[in-house]
Amino acid sequence: MTIYNFSAGPAVLPKAVLSQAQAELPDWHGSGMSVMEMSHRGKEYMGIHAQAEADLRELMNIPANYTVLFLQGGAHLQFAMIPLNLLRGKASADYVNTGEWSKKAIGEAKKYGGVNVVVDNADRNCSYVPAFDTWKRDANAAYLHYTPNETIGGVEFNWIPDTGDVPLVADMSSNILSRALDVSRFGLIYAGAQKNIGPAGLTLVIVREDLIGHAAASTPTMLNYKVHADNDSMYNTPPTYSIYMAGLVFQWLKQQGGIAAMEQANIAKAKLLYDAIDASHGFYNCPVAEADRSRMNVPFTLKDAALDGDFLKQADARGLLQLKGHRSVGGMRASIYNAMPLDGVRALVEFMKEFAAKQG
Ligand SMILES: *Cc1c(COP(=O)(O)O)cnc(C)c1O
Repeated sequence: MTIYNFSAGPAVLPKAVLSQAQAELPDWHGSGMSVMEMSHRGKEYMGIHAQAEADLRELMNIPANYTVLFLQGGAHLQFAMIPLNLLRGKASADYVNTGEWSKKAIGEAKKYGGVNVVVDNADRNCSYVPAFDTWKRDANAAYLHYTPNETIGGVEFNWIPDTGDVPLVADMSSNILSRALDVSRFGLIYAGAQKNIGPAGLTLVIVREDLIGHAAASTPTMLNYKVHADNDSMYNTPPTYSIYMAGLVFQWLKQQGGIAAMEQANIAKAKLLYDAIDASHGFYNCPVAEADRSRMNVPFTLKDAALDGDFLKQADARGLLQLKGHRSVGGMRASIYNAMPLDGVRALVEFMKEFAAKQG
C-alpha cells in the first residue's frame, strides 16, 4: 500500500531525498563518515553547507544584498529575535493578525517593544485575509510583520503587502519555496524547516543586510543576527544534519524544475482538493474565503462531526495519514506541501468521495 502523509509538520519529505540520505548515511561520498559525524569546520561539511546556501539562493533568486542564515530555535525563536534585532531604537512595530501564528508572534514581540496590530480577521473567525486598504499602519513602524500562510487556519496571502520604506517581515514557515517570490520586497523572511524544507531543528532566515547590526545592547549573543551573519551561520555548531537534508531537498527542487514548476504542481493539487470539497454538496466544508484559501494547508470539516472518527480511521486504513485537524479548529486538515505528489491528493479525493457516498 502506498502511504501518503498529510501532516502539517514535521511533514512529508520527497521519497528520493530519503533514499539518497539512506544511501549516504554511514559513509558520505567516500569520506568514511556520516554527515552527522563530521566536524562543522572540516572541508566536507563546509562544502555541504556552502552548496545548500548556493542552491537556495539560486532557487529563490535571492539578491546579493541579502544574508542567508541557518539557525536553530524554530520559528518561535524568531518571534523574539525579530523585535530584538529589528526595532532599532524605534518605539513599535506593526503586526497583522490573521490567526494562531500571528497571535503567537504578537505575544512575544510585546515583551520587547510596542506592538501596533494593524488589522485582524477575528470578525469572521480568522477565515480570510483583510483587504490592505483597511490596515491601520504606522508610518514610523520599525517593520511590519505578517504570516503569509496561516498553517492552522489555512489562510494564505496571494499578494504581497506594499509597506514602502517600512521593512516587511514574513513568517513563511509553511509556504516558503511553494510559489514564485520576489525576495527584494521583503526585509526579512523566516521559516522553520520542518514543513517545506527538511527535518526539524533548522530555521531559515533571509535578511536584508542593512537590517543586520542594530540589535539592542542586551541581546544575547546567540540571538544577534550579526553574530551569525559574521560567522556564516557557524558561530557555534550548526544543525549540520538538518542542513545537509535541506540541501538534498534544494537539489530535488531544482531537479523538479525549480519553484515555478513547484508552484504549478501546488496549484493543481490544491484545485483538485478544493474542487472535491466544493462539489460535495455540503458534506465537506472549507471555512476559508475562496480567494484566501491556502495551497499548502487545507482545513475542512464534515457535515456531521460525529463522523470524524470514522473518517480518520478509514483514511488511515487506506494509507492516508495524519489528516486530523488542529485541536483549535477541529475537523480535518490536509497539508499538501511540495513533497506531496499529485497522486497523494488524488487518493485522498477518491477516498473522500467514496466516504461521502457511503454516508448517503
Ligand atoms: C509551524 C509554524 C510555526 C512554529 O514553528 P516552530 O519551528 O515549531 O517554532 C510558526 N509559524 C508558522 C506559520 C508555522 O507554520
